[in-house]
Amino acid sequence: MHLQLDQARNGPLRWRDAVRVAAPDLRRDEALVPGSVDCEGSLTFTGPDFLLQTRLRYRYRLRCDRCLTPYEEDVDLPLAFVVTAGVPDGPAAADAAGDAHGARELEAEDLSTLVAVDGAVDLFRLVCEQVELNVPMKPTCDSACRGLCPQCGVDRNREACTCVSESVDPRWAGLEAVRERLTGNLT
Ligand SMILES: [Zn+2]
Ligand SMILES: [Zn+2]
Repeated sequence: MHLQLDQARNGPLRWRDAVRVAAPDLRRDEALVPGSVDCEGSLTFTGPDFLLQTRLRYRYRLRCDRCLTPYEEDVDLPLAFVVTAGVPDGPAAADAAGDAHGARELEAEDLSTLVAVDGAVDLFRLVCEQVELNVPMKPTCDSACRGLCPQCGVDRNREACTCVSESVDPRWAGLEAVRERLTGNLT
């Protein structure tokens, strides 16, 4: 679906759509949206730009970074953007065209700028980008998730194991050596 800027010039354009986002549409392939993204919003002409307000609601499936178990989460994401018509006729417009997400100086600092292509906003692209951006760096099924035992691999949320976590995590071993060198130099 494309939002035509011209349709909002005489009054706010409102829409509601269910956008299907398949796995290949997302660059973060650890996220899956099994249903569709419910997307509603309005496009308002503020002159010379437009204000795009939208709300995305969907349920997505992620894999816990600690215990590797898939889990689902509901998302309710209110968003707002300044939309420029994207005619590069001056330095400011050229900046906006170069960086679609950088806000221009004259605009509210917390609003991102979208540049319309051929007088329209591609709603599908917008939804895909926002779903991607909303995937956490380290998804966790629960803030209290205890993860897998690094030694025997059991899911510590379900089973206790008898491993003793005395050994230094191999990822820190290098750092440990540096620390020993440093403290050695100091004494
Ligand atoms: Zn977990
Ligand atoms: Zn263990």
